[in-house]
Amino acid sequence: MSTAMATLDSTVAVLEKRTPGRGTFVVALLALASAAVVALATTATADWNLSSLLVIAAFTTLSGIAYVDAGSSRLSISGTMLGLVLAGALLGGGPAALIGLVTTCVRWARSRESFPAFVDNLVTFTWFPLIAGLLFRSAVSALGLGHHDIGYYVLIFPAFFVALLLNFVGVVGFQCYLDRTSLWRQARDLVPPVLAAEMLSALLTMAAVYLTWQTGTLGLALLGLILVTYQYLVGELLRSKQRASELQRIATTDELTGLANRERFRQRVEGQIADAGPRGTTFAVMLIDLDRFKEVNDTLGHHYGDELLRGLGPRLVASAGDDAVVARLGGDEFAVLPDASADDVGELERIAERLIECVQEPVLMEGMTLQVGASVGIARFPVDGDDAHTLLRRSDVAMYAAKESHSGCKLYAAELDHHSLRRLSVLSDFRRALNTDEIVVHYQPIVDVEGTSVRGAEGLVRWEHPDLGMIPPGEFIQTVEQSGLIGPLTRHVLERSIMQCAEWRRAGHDLSVAVNLSVRDLLDRSLPGDIEHMLTSYHVPAAALQLEITESMLMSDPERSLATLMRLNELGLCLSVDDFGTGYSSLANLRRMPINELKIDRSFVSPMLQDESDLIIVRSTINLGHDLGLRVIAEGVEDEPTLAHLAHLGCDLAQGYHVSRPLPAEAFSAWMGTAGAQPALPVAV
Ligand code: C2E
Ligand code: CA
Ligand code: CA
Repeated sequence: MSTAMATLDSTVAVLEKRTPGRGTFVVALLALASAAVVALATTATADWNLSSLLVIAAFTTLSGIAYVDAGSSRLSISGTMLGLVLAGALLGGGPAALIGLVTTCVRWARSRESFPAFVDNLVTFTWFPLIAGLLFRSAVSALGLGHHDIGYYVLIFPAFFVALLLNFVGVVGFQCYLDRTSLWRQARDLVPPVLAAEMLSALLTMAAVYLTWQTGTLGLALLGLILVTYQYLVGELLRSKQRASELQRIATTDELTGLANRERFRQRVEGQIADAGPRGTTFAVMLIDLDRFKEVNDTLGHHYGDELLRGLGPRLVASAGDDAVVARLGGDEFAVLPDASADDVGELERIAERLIECVQEPVLMEGMTLQVGASVGIARFPVDGDDAHTLLRRSDVAMYAAKESHSGCKLYAAELDHHSLRRLSVLSDFRRALNTDEIVVHYQPIVDVEGTSVRGAEGLVRWEHPDLGMIPPGEFIQTVEQSGLIGPLTRHVLERSIMQCAEWRRAGHDLSVAVNLSVRDLLDRSLPGDIEHMLTSYHVPAAALQLEITESMLMSDPERSLATLMRLNELGLCLSVDDFGTGYSSLANLRRMPINELKIDRSFVSPMLQDESDLIIVRSTINLGHDLGLRVIAEGVEDEPTLAHLAHLGCDLAQGYHVSRPLPAEAFSAWMGTAGAQPALPVAV
């Protein structure tokens, strides 16, 4: 079979391509016309044997139609080259050119390649058999060789390779002209892999010529049939091989990003272990988990989330380096196998930092700037694990530790494992804890910015674990949210806070209490009724209860949230948007919501006197809130100058360590008792 370069698919991406103009077609027409003139002028040297012509034409065309794609865009396996050289040798240049012309037309009817490619093929497939045929026949007659001489058959080789060269230059050369790429480079890439197949084709052509002289047209027909059948079989084999490798590719590739998937990553780690073991080399596995990705997904929708992940793939690959393996393990979790030894921890940390920086780069998407962070966990072979499973699990443990401590990246250490066990035991313990007194609420005062009175308190949950001590909400809220136990927790905190508020009010303090809701709570249709019931049983006016919801909660399912919020609003509760400034809420949505208060996130408030841009955000949020008719509260006030500046900016309320840390109920009452002694904070009664 011959590997003929017969397709012109433009798969080479080049910046500025040429498009064939009218001039190219004129040249092509002239080339075709001159081929006809040459064929006519040399017709005396040709042998227009009709039956041979038909048999070869049938074989060449059939074989051309049934070409097999060899996986590369430029190469396809067919018997066209063989047939045309055979025609050139047996019948002469003119008949071979005619067969080339017919084959190209029939083939075009099937492949529907672009018109310029077709025209180029037409010229090439007319001229190369013409020249090969003329050369062969004139060489044979000049040397006085007949079909009984060995030399006659030996001459098939140069004729075949001249034809091949012309074919290559005609087809690939034209493409290179359009793409402005180097023909020499293409030749270097494309020719060596097919050279052996071409040698076989040349041999087969020689055999075909010999057989035809021995057995006549019938033998030729039989040979053609065998070759076409053989080509079909090779094609089927190749196709099934291509299908198998495609299936293998799909099974080991992450569809969204095109990166390796978990399975391929595991295979690569195992391969690395097999290579490293005997040589004593070391390496590391890095696990990357995005921070705040869920927020993008929940508030803006999966489309944005997917786009973000898709864009991250190439960036991670570029940042990890050419020889690293980058995989997406699922969700917003990526893994990297860097090409670095695990002996140099400093180098590993530098790689991890680079990866984090590359994730943090803001992405502009449909006019919106999105930014996410990342936490990286590192596990080293062989110190932290000597199989892929352990390395992955331990890098996961390290990643969680990095996430919890907000430290960016962390190296695995055995004590981190105990910590992760603690995380796992949270869930089973939590059910029990809810029914005991372990889940307690601490209260952090909310004051007015003039510092004249305490207005209320935010109830913040804590878990007083009998063995593990005090667990902050950051360590269990997310797990509880995922487990479906958030409803009971919210009700527990609400009941405690409302009860406490009632007690303060009975003692003469006109305080309100704020409780944090979770996103699931907004989809819980029975929550408003339950809250109403609690307020009536403890005789607390609805206006004394504030519910804090984050921006992302508002945006995750605005329609359904709106229904619950409306119900809560009807009860007369105060609704506050927590962590304002960190999410992606749109003003249009915000205006539709029945909210009363914006709570500026502490990440802007705490550093606002050190960082001009934070100050600008705080100032504009205060103005925005007031323009929308909302009350504005600043959380995370950590010093007196910040409180004074907030008063200057016209902020309404403040909360933060400067006023007081969250306190247990009794300590809060005691603090209020002594607060009068603090000149800035007399309690309003
Ligand atoms: P949050 O609603 O933003 O609560 C304020 C957090 O900031 C509290 O952390 C508080 O201790 C801390 N904080 C207060 N003042 C300052 C300050 O001046 N500087 C700094 N750096 N931090 C300050 P905490 O109690 O650990 O709560 C963390 C988060 O857990 C809360 O953030 C809230 O989102 C969540 N959470 C707490 N209690 C509950 C609850 O009962 N239900 C739900 N769903 N979430 C809760
Ligand atoms: Ca809050
Ligand atoms: Ca907050």
